[in-house]
Amino acid sequence: MQQFNPEQAMTETRREFGEHGGVTPSISRSTTFSVMVSETMPEIFGGVLGPEDGCFLYSRHFNPTVNTLARYMAAMEGTETALCTASGMAAISCTLLQLCRQGDQIISSNTVYGGTHTLLQHLLPQMGITTTFVDPTKTDAFYRAITPATKVLYVETMGNPTLKIADLPALAKLAGDHNLTLVVDNTFTPMMISPARLGADITVYSMTKFINGASDLIAGAVCTTKEMVGQLTDLHTGRAMLLGPTIDPRVAYDIIQRLPHLAIRMREHSRRAMALARHLEGLGIAVVYPGLSSFPQHALVSSFLNEGYGYGGMFTIDCGTREKADQLLNHLQNTDNFGCIAVSLGYFDTLMSCSGSTTSSEISSAEQREMGLSPGLVRIAVGYTGSLENRVEQLDRAVRAVMLL
Ligand code: PLP
Repeated sequence: MQQFNPEQAMTETRREFGEHGGVTPSISRSTTFSVMVSETMPEIFGGVLGPEDGCFLYSRHFNPTVNTLARYMAAMEGTETALCTASGMAAISCTLLQLCRQGDQIISSNTVYGGTHTLLQHLLPQMGITTTFVDPTKTDAFYRAITPATKVLYVETMGNPTLKIADLPALAKLAGDHNLTLVVDNTFTPMMISPARLGADITVYSMTKFINGASDLIAGAVCTTKEMVGQLTDLHTGRAMLLGPTIDPRVAYDIIQRLPHLAIRMREHSRRAMALARHLEGLGIAVVYPGLSSFPQHALVSSFLNEGYGYGGMFTIDCGTREKADQLLNHLQNTDNFGCIAVSLGYFDTLMSCSGSTTSSEISSAEQREMGLSPGLVRIAVGYTGSLENRVEQLDRAVRAVMLL
């Protein structure tokens, strides 16, 4: 397949000016928009006229600034269009509720963000939508789980927190063969991997993470076809209209201003994560990083990476027990100044947490074991502040002290 360059697609072929020729886009804060003549209103409600015709109605439906962000996201993903939402969870839940009805089944990777896991395991069943969880590294497990009720295959490109990789081209083929919709959460791997180019029908994001990059706002996106966004935003039936996960135009503006340096940031997250992971591997630590040749799916992920962004900013260390994990985290933050004990990822400083007792704590111990999540797993979202040499030394000191090397 021809190499895709998301950076070029987003920033070189697209330039959005503000009103009066501003080099930054304008922030349009109006909640409601006037029309020249009353007869236009029903046409907007009927979907005959819309933003592409210069017709805005109400900002829960469409907003000019939010649409600017959506155009950038669609360009980056190579999708027809995108819808921006108030959070990653809003993007995920509205998408699944749009695609599924009572009696339908989802087949999901068993290693997904804890909030998504709970949505699938506990909330959606209350609406008659069930989920079968399978190992994301085994495409044939998805195949075996398909029933006449199946509507959606759901995966994270790089699973949270185990970093297991879903074989997107194979899953896209499976979905196509069985008339299913492949929904991919690409939160860990923006720019590095372009799911739509690999056949995904819908790419969802928590833009709270790498895409925004400053850990100062919550946002999400659904990148897909005009038809799907049309369904989500249908004024009478669309889930994004009825559930109302509207992103504030000021938040959308902030993200627009950070997209131009997303590629530079991703490269640096990746460069540093690779150096730190290699160092740990040299010490004999149980480190998992997709860029290491010891990573079980290293060849697979290498086969569909966009060139030049590396293997991402996330790695894990298995400390064996939660107590050891806590000791390592405390040492790294309070003795060595390596990073912050905090959930989330994609920040310029390093964020570290023990996943089993935090972001995946909604998932039962048995299921954590099943997905390969050890109670001592420390997830490290590598930042890019400070010199890399110092960061290697800080990590080295903490690991030697806690693991008694
Ligand atoms: N998807 C993944 C992979 C995540 O890690 C998270 C949050 O940590 C989410 C979705 C949810 O995103 P948000 O917090 O923006 O709702």
